[in-house]
Amino acid sequence: MDKRVRVRFAPSPTGPLHIGGVRTALYNYLFAKKHGGDFLLRIEDTDQGRFVHGAEEYIIESLKWCGIEPNEGVGYGGAHAPYRQSERKAMYKPYAEQLISSGWAYYAFDTPEELDTIRKQAELAKMPNWQYNSISRMTMKNSLTLPEDEVKTRIAKGEPYVVRFKMPRNEEVRFHDSIRGWVIFSTNELDDKVLYKSDGMPTYHLANIVDDHTMEISHVIRGEEWLPSAPLHIMMYRALGWEAPEFAHLPLILKPDGNGKLSKRDGDRLGFPVFPLEWKDASTGEISNGYREKGYFPKAVINMLLLLGWAPGNNQEIFTEKEMINAFTIERIGKSGSKFDPDKTRWFNQQYLRLTPPEELAELLLPLLKAKGITVTADYAAKVCNLMSERAVFVADLMEGDYLFHAPANYDADAVAKKWKKGESGMLMNEWKEVLTSLDDFSSTTIENRFKEFIASKELGMGAVMPLFRIALTGMLSGPSSSQVAELIGKEESVRRIKIAIDTLEK
Ligand code: GLU
Repeated sequence: MDKRVRVRFAPSPTGPLHIGGVRTALYNYLFAKKHGGDFLLRIEDTDQGRFVHGAEEYIIESLKWCGIEPNEGVGYGGAHAPYRQSERKAMYKPYAEQLISSGWAYYAFDTPEELDTIRKQAELAKMPNWQYNSISRMTMKNSLTLPEDEVKTRIAKGEPYVVRFKMPRNEEVRFHDSIRGWVIFSTNELDDKVLYKSDGMPTYHLANIVDDHTMEISHVIRGEEWLPSAPLHIMMYRALGWEAPEFAHLPLILKPDGNGKLSKRDGDRLGFPVFPLEWKDASTGEISNGYREKGYFPKAVINMLLLLGWAPGNNQEIFTEKEMINAFTIERIGKSGSKFDPDKTRWFNQQYLRLTPPEELAELLLPLLKAKGITVTADYAAKVCNLMSERAVFVADLMEGDYLFHAPANYDADAVAKKWKKGESGMLMNEWKEVLTSLDDFSSTTIENRFKEFIASKELGMGAVMPLFRIALTGMLSGPSSSQVAELIGKEESVRRIKIAIDTLEK
């Protein structure tokens, strides 16, 4: 690659960032890192009507949480600042004028009402897809049809106008997409898009390509929904005499079930977040779940997104950031959409939880315990994490069993009915309590061995006695091994709990 790699993530601040947007940012980030290039954050806020308060901050915080931070852009600064399009407003006008003077664009004065009427008439005439294009433009009110003087007067009088791109007729637009290969459009399918408005605001199309060019963007990696805009962008680069960047349009993330793009509603329906962070809609007060608040590790989310549309070519599933950067290539991005898989996302979280050292998990667990009014030492919390991590998906699952922090407040009635035989069970547990009391070494291995000897001496099976011990310690039948729980809570507490269980269940 001869040119310096410079890529950008260019969201519009119209609401919370969808997980698909996070994936777009991730692929840009990895591509930049791989080639020692730059990853920019540009905020495309030219459409003030769709501006949502707080969305920009949300985007920046989301990228931070995910660990895919730009090295240039809004919130980061850089040689091409400002990176917010509304603050670059003055930069776009000369390019709109250049396009007009070179015959690639024209002024149009048709009012929104007039355009509306024409569309309605076309609909009535059974031509529903009326477009302002290379044919219809000659019947409209613009600088191609009106006398030059009139155009000047209208502008001088301050009459509102727009600048439209003059899409040529009967031309073929071809461009290379790194994911799709050669893409070919006919200009006859394209309309004369508005590029600029007399209020001084460019539209997305003009601002987007002017910024990509002036910010020296080498590769445009963006969602497939922008593919239909690409031929216009190519034509605009041509019209301005600029070299176009290389394009890569990422296929969609699809619903877990059925077809179509993954939406917030799918998440609500099937119970998983589609946003990285929780989002509160200011107008409705509605709160949408976020991966962060649901207890996901950002690395697990990123790892899941990496493989949602990109394949390493081998069976590797867990990637460190370094490995992601090394392995990532645009060529291995799939051409078709990938179904979102919420179970797989949970699986990734589970894998990352297992990979996290207990001491680190403890740091995350302690505040959750504190919120429940439980205070333990960091050392004890680490032991809890060590014991529970095999069966947990989220950090909160690590404190699933209250019994790790205090004696069971009650005993599972079904478990007791099934396993505890009054008289007989009480006697057995009393004897086992004496065995435990006599132990000097209270490690789970010793407890386990002594337990085996104990049931052998009684000529009883594991299934008859182990559940009693478990009920006494935890109040239930599921959970980690009883000897491990006993080791964790210690001899004194284990013995005390057996005693309480006998007193309670033998009553
Ligand atoms: N502002 C567009 C968006 O919100 C950016 C499209 C592009 O990357 O060119 O997705």
